Amino acid sequence: MYGMMVLMDEIFVYAVLIVLGLMFGSFAGASVWRLRARQLVADKADGETIDKKEYKKLLPLTKASVRTDRSQCLHCGHVLAWYDLLPLASWVGLGGKCRYCRTKIGWFEPLMEVGVAGFFVLSYLLWPTDLLTMTAIFQFILWLISGVLLAILFAYDLKWFLLPDVIVFPLVGIGGLVAISKVITAQHPVETLFSIAGSVVILSGMYYVLHKISKGQWIGFGDVKLGLALGLLLSDWQLAFIALFAANLIGCLIVIPGMAMHKLTRTSRVPFGPFLIIGTVVAAIWGPMLINLYFTLSF
Ligand SMILES: [Zn+2]
Repeated sequence: MYGMMVLMDEIFVYAVLIVLGLMFGSFAGASVWRLRARQLVADKADGETIDKKEYKKLLPLTKASVRTDRSQCLHCGHVLAWYDLLPLASWVGLGGKCRYCRTKIGWFEPLMEVGVAGFFVLSYLLWPTDLLTMTAIFQFILWLISGVLLAILFAYDLKWFLLPDVIVFPLVGIGGLVAISKVITAQHPVETLFSIAGSVVILSGMYYVLHKISKGQWIGFGDVKLGLALGLLLSDWQLAFIALFAANLIGCLIVIPGMAMHKLTRTSRVPFGPFLIIGTVVAAIWGPMLINLYFTLSF
């Protein structure tokens, strides 16, 4: 009987995480377009050359308030009903097309929704610490919120090679909260502080040096700021090291075959943010297990 109840509780938690993940994924997808629209308006005001077609298409988003956001089809301008805006369900039900003009909506929205839902479920399934104290639950919730912001940054950097400050700065704030909560609850606060400092230096300091040496050619300053946020989120120098290693490994696995197949050249721009983000997620979820494995194998 007791086991049955625990099972029901777990199923309930997963159902909630999936629904919340789909909703926040939908929010993340909409935010990407809204941020892009704002960026284009700002670029135009600065006198930079912008894609006129894209500008015209996304302009309505700059006027929409948060409440009415994404309430019209970007192609035909038809106002969308609530049943057109259900995460994933509407997209599947409509075969990925607008109900009114039948224009393809594309894969971006459902991918963001499934991606964030998957992130929520995987994080809960594999989270390395027991969620038994308020602090542990607090840190886990901060991690889920970070995941939503990271999804926005991931997509934005992949599409337009930029990491918007309006997302990176709140992420630095959340990272700061994680760091503070770790120091407060640490058995050895000074050691924890050093570990956090190391984490920041590994994920941000190195990029800062590369950014300075190359005068922004290899690494943009956006990556440096993202590194700061990720270093604080992990708040552990060993995890930061794993994140950096994983990011570079994934980067090489994509860049080298890309160059071999002539899809990428030496001058191609490769956004580094997505690699760092994946590396950090890998480190946060599997890092403690990898560290344990390393010490078990080496002693
Ligand atoms: Zn339409």
